[in-house]
Amino acid sequence: MKSYTLAVIEGDGIGPEIVRESVKVLDIVGERFGISFDYKPCLMGGCAIDATGVPLPRETIDICKASDSVLLGAVGGEKWDTLPGHLRPEAGLLGIRGALGLYANLRPARIFAPLKTASPIKESIIGDGLDIMVVRELTGGIYFGERGRKEINGAAAAYDTEMYTVPEIERICRVGFEMAQKRRKKLCSVDKANVLESSRLWRETVTRLATDYPDVTLSYMYVDNCAMQLVRNPRQFDVIVTSNIFGDILSDEASMISGSIGMLASASLGQGSFGLYEPIHGSAPDIAGQGVANPLATILSVAMLLQYSLNEQEAAAAIERAVNDVLCELRTADIFEEGYQKVGTAAMGDAVCARIKPAKSA
Ligand code: NAD
Repeated sequence: MKSYTLAVIEGDGIGPEIVRESVKVLDIVGERFGISFDYKPCLMGGCAIDATGVPLPRETIDICKASDSVLLGAVGGEKWDTLPGHLRPEAGLLGIRGALGLYANLRPARIFAPLKTASPIKESIIGDGLDIMVVRELTGGIYFGERGRKEINGAAAAYDTEMYTVPEIERICRVGFEMAQKRRKKLCSVDKANVLESSRLWRETVTRLATDYPDVTLSYMYVDNCAMQLVRNPRQFDVIVTSNIFGDILSDEASMISGSIGMLASASLGQGSFGLYEPIHGSAPDIAGQGVANPLATILSVAMLLQYSLNEQEAAAAIERAVNDVLCELRTADIFEEGYQKVGTAAMGDAVCARIKPAKSA
């Protein structure tokens, strides 16, 4: 039996509720596919502040580094909102990405066929469904470049700097190419090379790398056109690779095409197969403790963990099939439509577990 160690950070608000369901799903998948998981619970966010005084204790970083990957619920809440920035729960999120060297953010924008009507985009555009992967550079670019304020001709001015080195561009673009190889073999590199020098270096670099991936078709798009094409003809995209700031904006746009924040998973990857997996939503304090949160984004994050970090493709596919099947009958409140049975967090988790079968009998 294969065995993996997973650091598990439940976090705050609905975090513990949705992580509990995901661990249930992992246990069932483990049983069906002969995999065992050793879970290492650790603290981050508001609960860590309450217990240790800081949002990201050293012990949490150590546990994560000693694990095969990390599963995270969500952090934050009103209780900690008045603390200084570096002591707020969200500082834990930035801190852990830095501490674990997670430079690639993967956000699938996907519409499961039974949820087609939840998308704000017309069914005629979506067709049978949608499956785009946005690969965003996470630790460089304008969010980390030189910034400041000065005076120009007596007027106050401020500046931020977009800068990328070739190694930074290479490593994120390689993630994009490799992702495309595992999918429909199309990579679209998004930039603003008609204006920005950093984008021109990005384009030169991705073009040079393309010779290493002859099976992937590389295309380029300016970011303004991409923003438009995502709503006009999203089915043209397979994998999009782009910089930190463009990826921040485009991944939000792409993910909203799928209709509900409660359905959207994400992964942050560093060197090797290590990754941190979390839903894109926050800790939803407005519904915490009520047992109504949608656990599917976190359950789908676990499927990504199996797929991208543990290379357990069959187990990942079994979870995705189970989620699709469940959506034909059951809905949590956030995705509820007439004609479906409304269920809470635990019942949704149980229903996914009940539908997970080994590939042979699926
Ligand atoms: P949020 O994503 O927590 O909630 C936005 C809305 O979506 C709320 O109405 C919420 O009830 C709903 N929602 C979110 N997840 C849901 C789910 N799984 N099922 C059903 N409904 C769901 O965003 P927010 O309200 O802006 O932030 C709340 C807290 O979360 C803040 O403290 C914020 O800083 C934090 N936050 C954390 C993360 C993270 O941990 N990665 C990300 C974003 C926000």
